[in-house]
Amino acid sequence: MNIPKKFCKAPFHGLSIDSYSNLSPCCEYKHDPAEKKYNLFYFDLWQSKLDTIRKEMIQGNTPTGCKSCIEKENIDGIHSNRMHMNHVITESAENIIKNYADKNKKIKPRDIEIKLGNLCNLKCFMCGPYASSRIMEEYEMNQNGYKELGIIHSGRKIKNWWDDSSKQKKLLELVKDGDVEKIHFSGGEPLMNTTIYKIIDVCHPNVKISFSTNMTMISEKFINATSRFNKKVAVYASIDGVGEHNNYIRFGSDWKNIEKNFITLKNTAHIEIGISYILQHTSVFTLIDLLEFSNLHNIPITLGTVYEKSVDGSGHLTINSVSPTDYKNFCMKIKKYEKVLGYSTISQWLEKYKFNMILHKKFVNYMKSLDKIRHTDFLQTFHPSWEINETA
Ligand code: SF4
Repeated sequence: MNIPKKFCKAPFHGLSIDSYSNLSPCCEYKHDPAEKKYNLFYFDLWQSKLDTIRKEMIQGNTPTGCKSCIEKENIDGIHSNRMHMNHVITESAENIIKNYADKNKKIKPRDIEIKLGNLCNLKCFMCGPYASSRIMEEYEMNQNGYKELGIIHSGRKIKNWWDDSSKQKKLLELVKDGDVEKIHFSGGEPLMNTTIYKIIDVCHPNVKISFSTNMTMISEKFINATSRFNKKVAVYASIDGVGEHNNYIRFGSDWKNIEKNFITLKNTAHIEIGISYILQHTSVFTLIDLLEFSNLHNIPITLGTVYEKSVDGSGHLTINSVSPTDYKNFCMKIKKYEKVLGYSTISQWLEKYKFNMILHKKFVNYMKSLDKIRHTDFLQTFHPSWEINETA
């Protein structure tokens, strides 16, 4: 069978429900602004739109909403979500296409990702109001300061759609379906929303469930609620530093509490835990301690790269805003870790470094402004080679 070069399995298996309850085949899919977005109220209509996307995939065309995902593959070293989805969905593309052609087979979502709004207790500096209700509050109270930095966030509020009885009913029906194989919860901080427990309670025990969490809300209730599943429950801990580094980057969290929660989950038989770490400017100060922590507790790390357009769209959180001295110091220190898992990702990330003074100044100004709002101290926490007042 001829499989189109850019074929993606996600539209045949996936359902992503975003913070506003909008539906997509995956979290990377970009809805055309001119088109109606389908939310949980219009699930059946979404199925016919999804059918158009599937047909385009089989014909070898790129659906409009998939363009930016597939274009990423033209950038060296970037692993697109299409590649990721094709890897994690184990059914072969041949089988998927064959089943789709069989009109007697109804194709239903098997891998579901759910974001129950932007409720979050933290203000991570690479995040925004779309995923943190705390940043939304801070932004509203300091709009002028943010505007001076060129940061303008959409003021669109996220309603508690999960409390709407018909949407909640539809959601519970979807997760209960016998065809569902995997459910992933992210957010915001998924464990802040208690609706999550209603969802977990109705899932079939054979479903593989997973969470992306900031590790601040691990509780007995969470451990008990997840203990009835037959497959190990995966917890992806979003962590970007150890100790004071963590407390600064993931503002509002306390490393002591996070460390305690790591140990609790490591000792919980039905849970498998890993660290999700984002390579970004501060990695030149934080990564080595984190590698040591992961080694000490035998917790695997998955490395990602910061989204280039995070916060203000300029790229000021990327490696290109790191000063040449900090870059050089880090390159020397990281050498002794070349045997660690993921080292090739780290060296590819380092190879892309191209110092950009404009981005560096933006980074310095961003940290200076956050320090003023949050009463923090970037220089005392990370000890960079630069002085905040000299460079800005
Ligand atoms: S090509 Fe990318 S955006 Fe489109 S469905 Fe697949 S993973 Fe999602």
